[in-house]
Amino acid sequence: MSAVLSWPRPAGRVPGRVDGQAARTDAVVRTGAVVLLWCALLLVSYWWAAGGGVQDLSGTAGGLTSAGRLTGLLASLLLLVQVLLMARLPVLERAYGQDRLARHHRIVGLVSFDLLLAHLVLITWGYADGALSRTPATLWELTVDYPGMLLAVAGTACLVMVVVTSVRAARRRLRYESWHLLHLYAYLGVGLALPHQLWTGQEFLDSRAATVFWWGLWAASAGAVLVWRLGLPVWRNARHRLRVAAVVPEDDGVVSVHLTGRRLDRLSASAGQFFTWRFLAGPGWTRGHPYSLSAAPDGRSLRITVKDLGDGSRALGAVRPGTRVLAEGPYGRLSARARSRPKVAFLAAGVGVTPLRALAEELPYAPGDAVLLYRFRDRPLFADELTALARQRGLQVLWLPGPRRAPDSWLGAGVGDADDRTLLTAWVPDLADRDVYVCGPEAWADEVRRTTSAAGVPADRVHVESFGW
Ligand SMILES: Cc1cc2nc3c(=O)[nH]c(=O)nc-3n(C[C@H](O)[C@H](O)[C@H](O)COP(=O)(O)OP(=O)(O)OC[C@H]3O[C@@H](n4cnc5c(N)ncnc54)[C@H](O)[C@@H]3O)c2cc1C
Repeated sequence: MSAVLSWPRPAGRVPGRVDGQAARTDAVVRTGAVVLLWCALLLVSYWWAAGGGVQDLSGTAGGLTSAGRLTGLLASLLLLVQVLLMARLPVLERAYGQDRLARHHRIVGLVSFDLLLAHLVLITWGYADGALSRTPATLWELTVDYPGMLLAVAGTACLVMVVVTSVRAARRRLRYESWHLLHLYAYLGVGLALPHQLWTGQEFLDSRAATVFWWGLWAASAGAVLVWRLGLPVWRNARHRLRVAAVVPEDDGVVSVHLTGRRLDRLSASAGQFFTWRFLAGPGWTRGHPYSLSAAPDGRSLRITVKDLGDGSRALGAVRPGTRVLAEGPYGRLSARARSRPKVAFLAAGVGVTPLRALAEELPYAPGDAVLLYRFRDRPLFADELTALARQRGLQVLWLPGPRRAPDSWLGAGVGDADDRTLLTAWVPDLADRDVYVCGPEAWADEVRRTTSAAGVPADRVHVESFGW
């Protein structure tokens, strides 16, 4: 397609000058979030200790029950933190980006799950007076006799299923959609597992402050999901009413979809961000797919560029102009917001060039201050558009054709024998003083991260979006 190149330069900004205020604000939010989490963990442990938790540790049965209470409390807190991490809270989305939130969600999830299992075993063992042989019968009694316990067992079963299907080996065998559908049972699991604590837990009933804390946290988590995961997307779609304007082939199996809608200037989307898209074009519309913007949004239209990798992406080639589109977003931190340095480097692989091409269009920079290293197998995408950006804006483009030269290298064949770090720092000698934006498959992006770290780029200046789950 013919390139229409325009780039909004925000009034009063000189290309190449970056104040980095947003990046600093986001760093403060990240520090605040970690401090808040530790304060909450300490507060919950304090309530446990104040309720005699430490003294109870002295006897066998009492000690097991007390340790079970503590692990249960910490597991509940982390379960709710997990929900908040994926609730699309704007303040967290901006500070972390979804890629990083998903990683944290995974780690917090595994820790809370281990604590949950420890809670189940320790409490039951404690109630069985420390006699292991009596624990199955005790578990049965607890389940049928205590309020909320039947729900808690059902909730735990949901969480076990979610964790088992999220283990990497199992995840690889599942289609994304199947895994995602199963993963939604985690909400049911959390919803069912927590009430037994609120109804019967000693720490909740003894202290008014603790009761307010736990009910408040539970309500805030549920409210965040309802507002930001459901309410906001519904409202945005009603407001913007997106439609397909055109579908343009870019290469074999790659199409660009142009979209229009109402008041797109109010969408507050930036180049580099992505939406989860649903095209109302027949069966399969319920399955959302994340695609990044491949052109800087101009307030009137949006563009995505999609490679055919399966049913959902293939179907886009046949979508007709006028088709209604539902979009959830914008998400992601691969945007101007993350920037803190005047100079930038973009590192792309394959169709991962889409958000970086949009960023190269939108970001302000002086000629020569932005470099794109673009690895592709046969033919590059957007060759004309990138050449025009090079000519008009001074974007430096280094084309890196060919298949990956080795599994532990992110570079293509034909670049010589030197290691990745040596080559990267030879091509971009001042890399350590740049913001580095990276996009491509997950394993490839991990290799890039390793190289940039070895080249002295601090982790908070490497901004990654990987096209994986
Ligand atoms: C943040 C993000 C931005 C992306 N941007 C682009 C883009 O601009 N252009 C582009 O061509 N591709 C992009 N992708 C990848 C794209 O979402 C998948 O290729 C697409 O969803 C595949 O769906 P399918 O039904 O065609 O294929 P399937 O057969 O379902 O899957 C093919 C491959 O895509 C993965 N996949 C499927 N659904 C998803 C999903 N919802 N989230 C993540 N991975 C999935 C599968 O694991 C598999 O590896 C992006 C992915 C992410 C996570």
